[in-house]
Amino acid sequence: MLITLKNILKMAESKDMAIAAFNVTSLEGVLAVIEAAEDEDTPVILQFANAAHSKYISLEDIGRVMVAFADRSKVPVCVHLDHGNNFDEIKRALDLGFTSIMYDGSELSLKQNIANTKYAKILADEYGASIEAELGSMGTEGENENILGAYTDPEVARVFVNETGIDALAASFGTVHGIYKSRPNLDFDIISGIRKLCGIPVVMHGGSGISDSDFKKCIDCGVRKINYYTYAAKYAGDAIKDMIKDKNGNIYSHDILVEIRRNMVKTYKETIRVFKNTQK
Ligand SMILES: [Zn+2]
Repeated sequence: MLITLKNILKMAESKDMAIAAFNVTSLEGVLAVIEAAEDEDTPVILQFANAAHSKYISLEDIGRVMVAFADRSKVPVCVHLDHGNNFDEIKRALDLGFTSIMYDGSELSLKQNIANTKYAKILADEYGASIEAELGSMGTEGENENILGAYTDPEVARVFVNETGIDALAASFGTVHGIYKSRPNLDFDIISGIRKLCGIPVVMHGGSGISDSDFKKCIDCGVRKINYYTYAAKYAGDAIKDMIKDKNGNIYSHDILVEIRRNMVKTYKETIRVFKNTQK
C-alpha cells in the first residue's frame, strides 16, 4: 500500500530502525525492491533521482511503474522524488502520485534554501504528500575536496526546520554519494544534535559503503531513512560479469535482466535486515 514519508518514518521511530530508500532506474529495480521488502515484511521507500537518472528513464515512465507497484504491495511503500531541485519536476512527481518529495536547496544561501523549501512544502501539502529537505552538502566522492566544511550545523538546522516545517532533514555528517575512496569519517554528534534540537527524523544520503556497525550507530543516534543505491547497482553489474564469464554460447537480454533482479533482491534484503537494527 502507498504511504507518505511522514507516516513511514513514524513506523521507523516506533521501532528504533531506519527505512531503506532504494533508488530505481528500471522495472527490474522496482520489482526487486518490492520483492525484498515483502520477503522481509518491512516498509520500504522507492525513490527516483530525476536530476541524476533521467538519462536512463523518464520520471513519467518510471514514476507510473513505481506508484502502481507500491499501491498493490503487501507492505507499506512510500514513493519519493530524490533530490528534487526545481518546482517543475516536483509538481510532475506529485501529479504522478508520489507520496513524498525532496527539495534540495543545499547549494543555495540559507535564506534562499528556506524560501524555496517553504514553497516546495506548499506544493507537497496540496497533494497530502510529505517533504524532505537538505542542509549542508554531501557532495560526491572525488568532487568535494573539503567535505568537512559542508557538515550540517545542528543550530542552523533548528532554524531551518522551524522555518520550513519539513518532515525529515537530509543532513551532512560525513557520508558522500557514490563509491568511497577512503574510509568515511562520520560525526555522530551531528545526528544526535539535530535530533535534540529539531526533533524530526534525520536522513542519511550516501549509504553505500558504510559498515554495518556505523549504520547501527547512526540509527541509534536518530537516522530514520537511509538512501542506498550505488553498491546495489555495482553488485548487480559484477554478477553480470560473472554470468558472461561462465556462459558459453549465446547470451540473451532477458537472462541478464533476471540475473540483475535476482542479485538486487539479495542485496536489498541484506540491507533491509541491517537497517531493522534488531541486534542490540
Ligand atoms: Zn542524495
